[in-house]
Amino acid sequence: MGANAKAKKAGVENELREPTDFGEGGYVEAQVLVTNACNLECSHCFVFREDNPNSPRDKMDDANMLHQLRLLRDKHGIKSMLFVGGEPMIRKDLVFEGMKLFDKCTIVTNGTYGIPSVPGHVVVVSLDGPEGPSDAIRGEGVFQKVKQAIFERDPADGTSVIMQMVLTRQNEEHLEAFVEEVKDWPISGLAFTFYVPNRDDRSSLVWRDLRERDRVVERLIALKRRYPRLIKSHVAALEMMMSDVCMDAIGENGEKCQLRKSLPLYMGENGRFERTFCCYGNDVDCERCGAYMVFNQAYHLSQGNLGHFPITGGTI
Ligand code: SF4
Ligand code: SF4
Repeated sequence: MGANAKAKKAGVENELREPTDFGEGGYVEAQVLVTNACNLECSHCFVFREDNPNSPRDKMDDANMLHQLRLLRDKHGIKSMLFVGGEPMIRKDLVFEGMKLFDKCTIVTNGTYGIPSVPGHVVVVSLDGPEGPSDAIRGEGVFQKVKQAIFERDPADGTSVIMQMVLTRQNEEHLEAFVEEVKDWPISGLAFTFYVPNRDDRSSLVWRDLRERDRVVERLIALKRRYPRLIKSHVAALEMMMSDVCMDAIGENGEKCQLRKSLPLYMGENGRFERTFCCYGNDVDCERCGAYMVFNQAYHLSQGNLGHFPITGGTI
């Protein structure tokens, strides 16, 4: 029985569509936005920026998404998948099915739907500071909800749970307080990444120049030295973020960026995936990019490690 006949028999509304042609290249890693819907409205969110393909909300049904992911996996040799949104746990059954297709999976969640138990895989949970500052970004009550979910989960279930903070000029002053707050929580580690602005972004989230950001990177390096097991960052990778050398890992227009070797799958028109310039979307300012994993990948490359390193900040 053909795939579409199967779909009809299973009562699936839409016929299965073939995925977009992304060329013949291999991609060890990919990232899929399983939904463009989210229950939060974080001030630093890049998903809902104007230039990103985010208007068709949940236009790809489960059967189509799984079908296309399977075909893309086989064509491009994708081994590792990052499940993101919007909030991916809004479609948790789909995520759990999708995870069966890949060797290594990471779910990036805001934690408000609980922490999924996915033994052998990684769950990255976002908070952006201690309670007050984080709630100012993510919404009132979110911090306590996430904290409760972290403490209610079984810490021995085999899931690697990484807490991640996105540092911006707005919340950087709370960096040390955040580490003190969560350092004894039952998590596998703490990760940090820095804000990635678009080209016109002159908001208070962005540092006036990269030298101003350097001071925050230095504070993070000091914290890493103080809590080497808790904080999942390499000092050498953080040093590559410093303003005098960061362009070596990026290139003027992102041509050296190792993150561009992964395949970002946004939901585009007509129930098909659309690829963006990088996982942060189409309109990005590479010269001010703060994605830790850009520098982590560059660091590994400089060490001759040609293996793949999952694209979340937490899994190094
Ligand atoms: S939880 Fe994530 S997807 Fe949702 S608004 Fe916040 S940053 Fe964006
Ligand atoms: S914005 Fe950052 S992650 Fe995206 S291509 Fe530029 S350097 Fe790479």
